[in-house]
Amino acid sequence: MQHFASDNYAGICPEALQAFLGANAGHAPAYGDDEWTREVSDRLRELFATDCDVYFVFNGTAANSLALASLCQSYHSVICHELAHVETDECGGPEFFSNGSKLLPAPGEGGKLTPDAVREVVLRRSDIHYPKPRVVTLTQATEVGTVYRPAEIAAIADLAHGHGLRVHMDGARFANAVAALGVEPAELTWRAGVDVLCFGGTKMGLPVGEAVVFFDRRLSEDFAWRCKQAGQLASKMRFLSAPWLGVLEDGAWLRHARHANAMAQRLAAGLAGVPGAALLFPVEANGVFVELPAAVQSGLRERGWRFYTFIGAGGARFMCGWDTRPESVDALLADLRALSG
Ligand SMILES: *Cc1c(COP(=O)(O)O)cnc(C)c1O
Repeated sequence: MQHFASDNYAGICPEALQAFLGANAGHAPAYGDDEWTREVSDRLRELFATDCDVYFVFNGTAANSLALASLCQSYHSVICHELAHVETDECGGPEFFSNGSKLLPAPGEGGKLTPDAVREVVLRRSDIHYPKPRVVTLTQATEVGTVYRPAEIAAIADLAHGHGLRVHMDGARFANAVAALGVEPAELTWRAGVDVLCFGGTKMGLPVGEAVVFFDRRLSEDFAWRCKQAGQLASKMRFLSAPWLGVLEDGAWLRHARHANAMAQRLAAGLAGVPGAALLFPVEANGVFVELPAAVQSGLRERGWRFYTFIGAGGARFMCGWDTRPESVDALLADLRALSG
């Protein structure tokens, strides 16, 4: 049975697995000084069409926490959406690794910050008693399955830079956002003003690992030491980096993301025929958020389905992954119809 709880329930995609096994060829230099890590860093520079600085860490919490820490002093603050993973799901990691930089949550429709919301936080206080805003962090795709358009990112980034703030992007589902918008990765990042991207590998089909991509190389000074101290420097780095090579080589990363998004669309379309089910957010990436009666939710769980309900009481989240099969979506829909009918 396939699940819709999270896209990290899926296994390793074939392209990543093959590259992982391919890297298991005898001895190779450790700590990133290997051919796979060099090669994939170059591929990422090609993908983003700029001379960015690239690091690999084990998970998204570390990527976000360490990237934000590299942008902040301990007395700084980070403006994020109130639903942002950094705020709700990282156990204080960004605050911990920055030695105390405070997150300042702001509201916004559809999981998105707006220039107005950011401006309000930036201008709220400028006195010495308040943690000085230093970074705006955006999640792409957002925690509720929507995506920022390039112009939306640029508007926030322009405002941020105008006030001396940096722009960080939590791209745990960056691939899904690129697939959804059909634009070049550069359009969603440095060309729109993003300074640092945490590019998620795990949810797009890698065994483990995220890439931290610095578009402004001045910001990555000493980042390698930061990773090492945090226990995020893999000694057998090739096993983190080689799977990236596997998915980047023939565009598998984008193909899988498009598939996951298409499965979310299939689910959303099917929900239109389920009485009592109402979409909570536009379905733009690989997540579907739907209001369901409590009895339907418990009925689904009794039938073995797993899903999260962190968006308030009646809201259920269904995530699709690179391997979600149409039949799995249809089986979920059939159970939803049976329980709602
Ligand atoms: C999954 C996820 C992460 C990373 O989580 P880890 O479990 O630490 O790898 C970061 N941001 C968002 C928005 C996520 O959904």
